[in-house]
Formats: sequence, structure tokens, C-alpha cells
Amino acid sequence: ATPLAELDPEIAAVLDGELARQRDTLEMIASENFVPRAVLEAQGSVLTNKYAEGYPGRRYYGGCEQVDIAENLAISRAKDLFGAEHANVQPHSGAQANAAVLHALINAGDKILGLELAHGGHLTHGMKINFSGKLYDVGSYGVDPQSYRIEMDEVRKKALEHRPDVIIAGWSAYPRQLDFAAFREVADEVGAKLWVDMAHFAGLVAAGLHPSPVPHADVVSSTVHKTIGGPRSGFILSKEEYAKKINSAVFPGQQGGPLMHVIAAKAVSFKIAGTEAFKDRQERTLRGASIIAERLSQPDVAAAGASVLTGGTDVHLVLVDLRNSNLDGQQAEDLLHDAGITVNRNAVPFDPRPPRVTSGLRIGTPALATRGFGDAEFTEVADIIATALKDGAATDVDAMSARVAKLTAQFPLYPGL
Ligand code: PLP
Repeated sequence: ATPLAELDPEIAAVLDGELARQRDTLEMIASENFVPRAVLEAQGSVLTNKYAEGYPGRRYYGGCEQVDIAENLAISRAKDLFGAEHANVQPHSGAQANAAVLHALINAGDKILGLELAHGGHLTHGMKINFSGKLYDVGSYGVDPQSYRIEMDEVRKKALEHRPDVIIAGWSAYPRQLDFAAFREVADEVGAKLWVDMAHFAGLVAAGLHPSPVPHADVVSSTVHKTIGGPRSGFILSKEEYAKKINSAVFPGQQGGPLMHVIAAKAVSFKIAGTEAFKDRQERTLRGASIIAERLSQPDVAAAGASVLTGGTDVHLVLVDLRNSNLDGQQAEDLLHDAGITVNRNAVPFDPRPPRVTSGLRIGTPALATRGFGDAEFTEVADIIATALKDGAATDVDAMSARVAKLTAQFPLYPGL
């Protein structure tokens, strides 16, 4: 019964320090969010003690009657939320969900086709030293060198050349929507399965503010912790015909005991994602990203060599192109960090700089929308970022920090925690 602060003061200090960091800075990493107190509660619960290998009603351990209820709720809520025939809510993470998808759909040595990592794809979509690059024969499509968009002619051309068994639609850094029906057509033309990885935009889909991949794809994977704003974890949706294969690819194919505390927290998140308040949050997320894209497209920022990739955004993030700026991605990330804004540097397509430096920034709005930000606050944040990109090394960091502090004070995070 010894409290953490007494038992392990070093780790207790990390928890306190991290809470303070989250409270006192503006979180704009596009893949991050703040979970509600109810999710923290479910995740920090006694469910972490329970082994439950198998699936509800078919476990390899006794005493699963309570966790079965939690998993069944998570499954039925996920299916309802996205209109899916089947849901598996056990993957510990997005990457593990993706490993299970490929394991279920194809065999080692078969061919996959996804978006190039350097153009916004994910590691699990075929990166050389990821399992996906090692186990499968990888082809990739890139964005158009002029429009910086995924053009379906290019996807089709690459599909006809590579003849993949699975086509992957989905991204980690891309500011536009995908045409899932067109991907389906290409997949049908080459006899491939279509897998959509909606990890980033799942919250927008749940709110009805982004086209749903579910009617078009054979399988859809996702994380729960990005736009959805739930616990760090993954899930998989599919047509009924893949249900058995997906389930056995997750367990026993990829993992042993599911994290029942996390599954309970997923159930809570899916419940929240069906509410009007959730929809309002996703709307503010989208408007915030548009406001930032608009501000960073103004002549004063352009004069400093920074621009917005594709000229705007349809989603929760903005990609800033710094190839013509005096700041590289690392310097811009550090400068904003010093002012209290957390973003991540990100390669832009055709980036001349190495991946550890990059010539881009990825700026996301989900966490601030969760914090309560609306148009006025996003307008202020956009101007702070614009000022930093304009002034570069000459930025008055103290003045920017003061503006950030005003915003964080206005929207207290986890009051009373
Ligand atoms: N898929 C996409 C498109 C992602 O962007 C990410 C995370 O960045 C993942 C999968 C992997 O999620 P996780 O970090 O939970 O393994």
C-alpha cells in the first residue's frame, strides 16, 4: 500500500515533471492527444493484473468473466462507431495491429505496395529494416513532385508494375484525404486486397468529418491514441470473411495476453467517440489545422522561405516545407520547443536533408482541441508559430513564451490531478 512517491520517488518525480510539462506547453505533435480522466482511471486499474489469452467466452485462463464484459463492450462499440462487420481490439499498438493485418492477409515473400516512408508513409508499410520490409516484397508509390498529393494514376501505375497482393492506403504525415473508392478500384484491377491504415485520421472518421475507409477496404487498422484520444494501443476492423484470420493473427500469431486494462480504456474511448462533444472536438481540430495552414501561407512567412505543403490541409495536421528557409527542421523544432510549443520535425517529400535533420515540420491540432482550444486560440498559436518561422534565430523567445503561458493558463489541463 506504499504510495509511489514514497516507494519510488525518482519515478514519482518523472510523473510530476511530465504532468507539469504537458500543462505548461502547447502539445502540437500530430500523433498525440490527452486522454480523459476516465481513460486514465480504466488504464490505471486492477484489470492490469488479469491474464486473458484468447477471446471473450473462449479464454485459456479462468476468472475472465469481468474482463470478457469489457472486451465485448470494446468490440461492439468499435463495430458500431465505424459500421464494421468485425473488430479485434487486442493489438497492443498500431504497429502490432499492422503486423497482424499482413500476417492475416498474406504470406512471407508476398508483395505489398504502400506510400513511401519519405513521403509520409509509416514504418510498417514496408520500411527496409521494419518487419514489413524484411518479410514482404515491397513496392511503393510517392506523392506527385508538383502537387505533393497522392495521385491515383501514379498508384495505379505502381500497382500494375509491382502486382502487389496487398495495397496499403494510409499515412503518418500527409495533409489531405485519400480516395478510398479509387484505391479499391486499383486493388480490384490488380487482384490485390486493400488495407487502410487510418491510425491518424480515425477520430475524424468516427465523427463523420472524413470519408470512411470501412466500406471500401478489406481490412482497416488504427491506433486509439491519435485523433481518437484514447489509450496508446491499436485495433483492427474487417469484413466478416477475414474475422477468423485476423483474430488468429493477433492471438496467438502476434501476442500473448491482451492488456485488459487498456482494452477497458479503449471501450471508454469508443463510447466517448460516439458523443456530440467528441464531434465538436474533431471540428475544432480541423478548423485549428486550417487556421494554422492559412496563417503560415501568408506573404510574411513565405518571404522567410517557409511554405505549407499542398497549400493547406483537409485533416488535423499541417506540413511545413522549410527547404527554402534558413531554419532546418531540427532548428525549427528546437526554436518552438524553447518557446513552449512541441512539434516534430518531419522530412518533406524530396527532402535534401538527412532524416535526423529534415526540412519540414509536422504540426497537429488534436491535443489542443482536446484541451479546449477554439478558433481564437488557434489563431493566436498560428501567429506565434508564424513569428518564429519568420524571425528564425532572431526570435524573441521570451515574448513567445509569454504568449504560450497565457494560453496554457486559460485552459488548465487535468485540474485537480
Ligand atoms: N500506422 C500509422 C499510420 C502511424 O502513423 C502509426 C504511428 O505513428 C502507427 C501505425 C503505429 O502506431 P504505434 O506507434 O502505436 O505502434
